[in-house]
Amino acid sequence: MLRDEDNKYCVDCDAKGPRWASWNLGIFLCIRCAGFHRNLGVHISRVKSVNLDSWTPEQVQMGNSRARAVYEANLPDSFRRPQTDSTLEGFIRAKYEAKKHIAKQCN
Ligand SMILES: [Zn+2]
Repeated sequence: MLRDEDNKYCVDCDAKGPRWASWNLGIFLCIRCAGFHRNLGVHISRVKSVNLDSWTPEQVQMGNSRARAVYEANLPDSFRRPQTDSTLEGFIRAKYEAKKHIAKQCN
């Protein structure tokens, strides 16, 4: 999975070469965002090191670009990823906890 072009950048902040992953969400993260994902709690995101743990294909079916299509469906094209710790954590909470940017159902 890490060889995929798709997963060479952190799904949340675009940092290069993510070494962490949320295996229940199926996304790759930098160490900073992995910390914020830990803060969300395991009911939302289960973070593991990519290096130390073995992975099964089922655990990483999503991948970063599909995850962005789902969790960032309503983000404007002009959106710029937050880069400071506090704004980045707020973005991650809005994205996965409140699901603020997710594609809305029609009903
Ligand atoms: Zn990141």
